[in-house]
Amino acid sequence: MNFVTVLDHPLVTHKLAILRDENTASPAFRKTLLELGHVMSWPVFSHLHVANTEIKTPMEKTNEAVLVYPFPCIVSILRAGNGMADALSAALPEAPIGYIGMQRNADTHLAEPYFKKLPDQIQDRQIILVDPMLATGSSASQAADFLKRDGAKNILFVCLVAAPEGIEYFHKQHADIPIITAALDRELDENAYILPGLGDAGDRIYGTE
Ligand code: URA
Repeated sequence: MNFVTVLDHPLVTHKLAILRDENTASPAFRKTLLELGHVMSWPVFSHLHVANTEIKTPMEKTNEAVLVYPFPCIVSILRAGNGMADALSAALPEAPIGYIGMQRNADTHLAEPYFKKLPDQIQDRQIILVDPMLATGSSASQAADFLKRDGAKNILFVCLVAAPEGIEYFHKQHADIPIITAALDRELDENAYILPGLGDAGDRIYGTE
């Protein structure tokens, strides 16, 4: 698959415009994020492994391509990843959800880990790692390090908005992990926020400052 896929679809750009708008308050932001996550689940899950399996309908036997065990899992980078994880999980409730807590050091702008809880058999699962903003790439990269240390071999990173700096940094560390993003933005500002971006995703989802 492509190593950076920027989704080009009217529903994606329309919903992203609502998220970018500074006048969108947190209840509408959360709702729209969920809707956008539902739209994104189609391309995101198009890479899942399936195997031809015989099933019996009430009429006769047939073959269908079904997900293989162990099922894929979703891993959310706390806390902003949770909105996307919930949306993807609605399309694939079979997927267990893991969490990796990363927080940004306000001085260095680098991500620091503080929590990890993952499903079992992580080494055999397809992993959808989610965080809405790929800014410096530090959180995503450290989260991928964590997963690989536990044996993960098959990871896909999914975000809403990516900065070119973040993509470059992430792929320097993890050239094997494809990225799917709803938008590729212009650049980072001096505080490592994405321009034009949508502001602080966590604060906008949860109504905090
Ligand atoms: N994290 C965010 O929430 N927004 C940005 O623009 C960058 C990092």
